[in-house]
Amino acid sequence: MSTARDSLKTARRIVIKVGTSTLAHADSGKLNLYRIEHLVREIADLHNAGKEIIFVSSGAIAAGMNKLGIKIKPPTIPENQALAAIGQGILMHIYEKFFAEYGQTIGQILLTKENAADEHTRENSRNSLRAILDMGAIPVVNENDAVGVDEIRIGDNDNLSAIVAAMTDSEVLIILSDIDGLYDKNPNVDKTARLIDEVPEIDAEIEQIAGGAGTKLGTGGMFTKIQAAKFATSNGVTMLIVNGSTNGNLRRALNGEHIGTIFPRKVT
Ligand code: ADP
Repeated sequence: MSTARDSLKTARRIVIKVGTSTLAHADSGKLNLYRIEHLVREIADLHNAGKEIIFVSSGAIAAGMNKLGIKIKPPTIPENQALAAIGQGILMHIYEKFFAEYGQTIGQILLTKENAADEHTRENSRNSLRAILDMGAIPVVNENDAVGVDEIRIGDNDNLSAIVAAMTDSEVLIILSDIDGLYDKNPNVDKTARLIDEVPEIDAEIEQIAGGAGTKLGTGGMFTKIQAAKFATSNGVTMLIVNGSTNGNLRRALNGEHIGTIFPRKVT
């Protein structure tokens, strides 16, 4: 019996993060409109139920590549910045259309490390996010990759979403992934891998499972999700990793059902 799962039922302010692998078709790389529409509908319904939702979405570069018919991510920073600039508008156009169909208003926030991770300058971002929520709208957040270079980038939206959750005093962060949650071994490599229901403590063993820094996995995948979980839970935010490919998973997770992996918050 997990009290952390029970506490999800009463959560009021929730950050939901979705990655490119959930938003795009694996084979073509094109946006998965069916999935995006179902996700938007579920978020709109949570909003109707009285929740405050902050939506962190990747997918700008993928959308830009689609638009221009580019199959392989280009090597230079300016090219990727340009694709992010082109794709971000496309992504917002789709979100605007789908959210409007369910009567919701959205507001775009693009962040860099300077105005998200820097504690002295993030006050403005916090105020803006709160004002959007107070107006009854849904902030749609992404890293500002159109101007981002390594020095000012957070680098991945798992960590960005944890920072956003902490700065807005959100109770829960739900990371939608292309997998059911954290497994005790990489399930792509070992078929005996088992899904972990709850991670009460992020210790060396958990970090090892996710692929420690310096390994091949250390550049993304579960590694950045565990980093995000560490930051979120130590800042009073309970985090969940849930499969974003199954319709209804957000609602099920927030009903306290045992899906995905939960990382209970350390402080309240
Ligand atoms: P997203 O784009 O949804 O953020 P990623 O592809 O970055 O997701 O990370 C999820 C992937 O991490 C899984 O599909 C899986 O291939 C890989 N992975 C490696 N180790 C593990 C593990 N221990 N448990 C679950 N997934 C793992």
